[in-house]
Amino acid sequence: MSLAIRLLGTSASRPTVERNVSSLALVREGETLMFDCGEGTQRQMMRYGVSFSLEDIFFTHMHADHLLGVVGLIRTMALQGRHERLRLWGPRGSSRVLNRAESLGFERATFPVEIIELEAGEKVDRQSYSIRAFAVDHRGSSSIGYALVEEDRKGRFNPDLARELGIPEGPLWGQIHRGIPISLPDGRVIEPSVLVGPQRPGRTVVITGDTRPCAATIDAARNADVLIHEATFGDEEAERAIETGHSTAREAATVARDAGVRQLLLTHFSARYSRDAFELLREAQQVHSETLIGKDGMELEVPFRDAVGAV
Ligand SMILES: [Zn+2]
Ligand SMILES: [Zn+2]
Repeated sequence: MSLAIRLLGTSASRPTVERNVSSLALVREGETLMFDCGEGTQRQMMRYGVSFSLEDIFFTHMHADHLLGVVGLIRTMALQGRHERLRLWGPRGSSRVLNRAESLGFERATFPVEIIELEAGEKVDRQSYSIRAFAVDHRGSSSIGYALVEEDRKGRFNPDLARELGIPEGPLWGQIHRGIPISLPDGRVIEPSVLVGPQRPGRTVVITGDTRPCAATIDAARNADVLIHEATFGDEEAERAIETGHSTAREAATVARDAGVRQLLLTHFSARYSRDAFELLREAQQVHSETLIGKDGMELEVPFRDAVGAV
């Protein structure tokens, strides 16, 4: 079951030659979920092959560099004759801005646009995964991060042992794999634990949006497979990070380390690091070695932990 992160924009505040402003897509089993939609995101989607048939855009907060792209994106979807519903999710108080963004520049979309506010702690349940909102700390604004949390998967079934025990291949295999004991014609009852291993964890991907390092992110990202954390500044601008409600790369790495995150992916870089973010990588890796610097267009596959031998 595939799960991939596609970064569409990795620059803070404004686009640069190398980087566009914030947006990323999670593509899970052919379903695309978008997180933030800065100006120019639709062109990044074309460039990097992200489908326009997505149904959900989750906004972390209402700053322009995370938001303005939705105006043009909705317009393009209308020009393409879209009929399917689009849902825009955002933190408390975001519906006023999102309503204006939806109606800006044209009279009416050809398709329904639903706007839903989420409180920190709320979750959106989907088949086999959920999206959980958590509070972040960004200049006192109403801002949330999101965690995509997959359900645990069934344990591994042992077909060789099933054959050895004389259980015929077919519906009985499925039944016992689903955790239901089976009775055989000769009177034996086979418990699932005989043939099925322990449940295997699903994957967790956490997205902070803009934030100071905070305890809520550590909680949300506990043992996560990937944490996508903003790293607007380097050590030399640590003061500025505090003033502006952002994080340094080292602070993001400290959050990742404290949460026991497998892979940290940094994004949202100040323009001065746009061309060369090596300094940020070096500072972060001093704290958490499994760190990557995000780039526009970067795709990162998220494997199951049991597939990478981390369990
Ligand atoms: Zn921002
Ligand atoms: Zn912001």
